[in-house]
Amino acid sequence: MSKTLLITGGAGFIGSALIRYLLRESDYRIVNVDKLTYAASLESLEDAPQNPRYAFERVDICDASALERVFREHRPDGVIHLAAESHVDRSIDGPADFMQTNIIGTFHLLEASLAYWQQLGADARAAFRFHHVSTDEVYGSLGDTGYFTETTPYAPNSPYSASKASSDLLVRAWHHTYGLPVVTSNCSNNYGPYQFPEKLIPLMILNALEGKPLPVYGTGTNVRDWLFVDDHARALRDVFERGRIGEQYNIGGHNEKRNIDLVRELCTLLDEMLPQSPHRPHDRLITFVEDRRGHDRRYAIDASKIQRELGWKPRETFQTGLRKTVQWYLNNRDWCRAIQARGYRGERLGLARRV
Ligand code: NAD
Repeated sequence: MSKTLLITGGAGFIGSALIRYLLRESDYRIVNVDKLTYAASLESLEDAPQNPRYAFERVDICDASALERVFREHRPDGVIHLAAESHVDRSIDGPADFMQTNIIGTFHLLEASLAYWQQLGADARAAFRFHHVSTDEVYGSLGDTGYFTETTPYAPNSPYSASKASSDLLVRAWHHTYGLPVVTSNCSNNYGPYQFPEKLIPLMILNALEGKPLPVYGTGTNVRDWLFVDDHARALRDVFERGRIGEQYNIGGHNEKRNIDLVRELCTLLDEMLPQSPHRPHDRLITFVEDRRGHDRRYAIDASKIQRELGWKPRETFQTGLRKTVQWYLNNRDWCRAIQARGYRGERLGLARRV
């Protein structure tokens, strides 16, 4: 019989990509546990709701009794935990939700998982896994050289990364203290279809399509390492199924880009893909805005452990992934309009503080 996975945050950007991938490529049954915050979109799940292997539970991971019921009713063979508040700028403006969901919510999910796991029979207990999905931002900021490895000390700098680092440490403690079989992955910046338009790449695409300014923080020299979301989904399956219990795995795309170079590359691509656009050349729209407070300088992932142990490596190059992403946003303006109509805050970001 096929196994049941409880996936939290499955209506978000990465969670929905993971669910689409698992329904397509595996025989898992999926229980999607999501509170449906502003960042959620059930449309991102495409035809999942019609799939008999899919169930949805609108539940807040901070609600202990609801979680207990979900475990009791669905009896999962494992958990992949993605639910989180995920946007750094929002965490700077209002950290409370980040502390609540990312720390307290993870605590409740660990407690519910532990109570459930402890009453399983020996075989099910041995096979059970709790996979915590985290970020490379827990490691803080790099100088011009070097990479984050799994042994890099934690040094989070934003309220978001501090809350994720806290959740990573809770997961570690529930393994060491109570024996819960956990594995954690720390991934670099994702991009791809269905990403909420407040994040860098979709914000730039959608603003460029409307001839609006493309806000770049500071001088644009901050460096991020980019991974196409479907590559992350494959990595998550590999880590969940074959990662060693108690271990961490860094996941990255070997695509280090300065923000300004990324935005220029995007503008060149839009010039090529939209030959009739009145906004060409799109790089005219680039506008430097006041830097993010505490902006980390550089992130870069050493992903050699997951490659060595699990044989994972990205399939998309940045060029192929970016082209697919732009094409998706061009083909799915309705999805974007529906999100924008709900009053997203992307337009606000930085522009009020233009320099
Ligand atoms: P997202 O913001 O797109 O989606 C988060 C989902 O979690 C939403 O569907 C939301 O409704 C749900 N959620 C939020 N609070 C909840 C709560 N209290 N109870 C239940 N559901 C709740 O995020 P994402 O970009 O898909 O990121 C998913 C995970 O991956 C997060 O844990 C994030 O820290 C991590 N991550 C993201 C990136 C990235 O580049 N986006 C990179 C590395 C790691």
